Amino acid sequence: MRFDIITLFPALVDYVLSESIIGRARRSGAIEVRMHNLRDFSENRTGRVDDTPYGGGKGMLIAAPPVVKAVEAVKGEAPDVPTRVICLSPKGALLTQKRAAELSEGYGRLILLCGHYEGIDERALELAVDEEISIGDYVLTGGEIPACILVDAVARTVPGVLSAPECHLVESFSDGLLEYPQYTRPYEFRGLKVPDILLSGDHAAVDRWRAEAALRLTEERRPDLTERRKRKTGGEKGRD
Ligand code: SAM
Repeated sequence: MRFDIITLFPALVDYVLSESIIGRARRSGAIEVRMHNLRDFSENRTGRVDDTPYGGGKGMLIAAPPVVKAVEAVKGEAPDVPTRVICLSPKGALLTQKRAAELSEGYGRLILLCGHYEGIDERALELAVDEEISIGDYVLTGGEIPACILVDAVARTVPGVLSAPECHLVESFSDGLLEYPQYTRPYEFRGLKVPDILLSGDHAAVDRWRAEAALRLTEERRPDLTERRKRKTGGEKGRD
């Protein structure tokens, strides 16, 4: 899977996406990440891409022409690959595990557009963007960290990125619940012991314990998730 990131700060994005699992996946070729500097598409010699907003107001806005030119140029690099153009924006739909998996299954390439300052001229979004995605109900200074989060979430579901590919299928949100608590050695730490069932060797009992623990934890911390799940399964409880 290929990710093309259009940004004013390519070094920042490249740095974050060069470490650990995502960095390894890039080096192994499981995913490809390319950075594109929006300034290279500026219409003036100084590389400026922002301007003051019509109607007044504080801050600067990224202008439409460099954004549309950048998206068109990047799209043209691999015109036959099924591509989705996404703008990271607090006004977008909230990123979910489900959407991350859909994006990795449905497209061979994502072009990610990072806003900055007060955002991007609306016409660039109308002309060049398929979808806006938000990483949460708060406002950050730029779309670079959201883009890294989106790449990470999508890349984890791409075959060959995780050493155990089934990992992402049994984690929080994969079946609408938070994951059960996990433990490793030592057995006892500062008076806290690992639940004995996990040492029993009875796999069915361990699965039952985990399913119940996941449900309990989700009910405590994210009642919205259990409610949504109940509506979907017609009121049934337990894991799918
Ligand atoms: N004026 C915009 C508004 O009120 O919706 C906020 C612009 S924000 C300061 C600058 C850029 O950061 C945005 O264009 C977007 O790319 C990025 N950004 C900020 N918060 C974000 C979020 N929660 N999710 C995704 N991107 C975000």
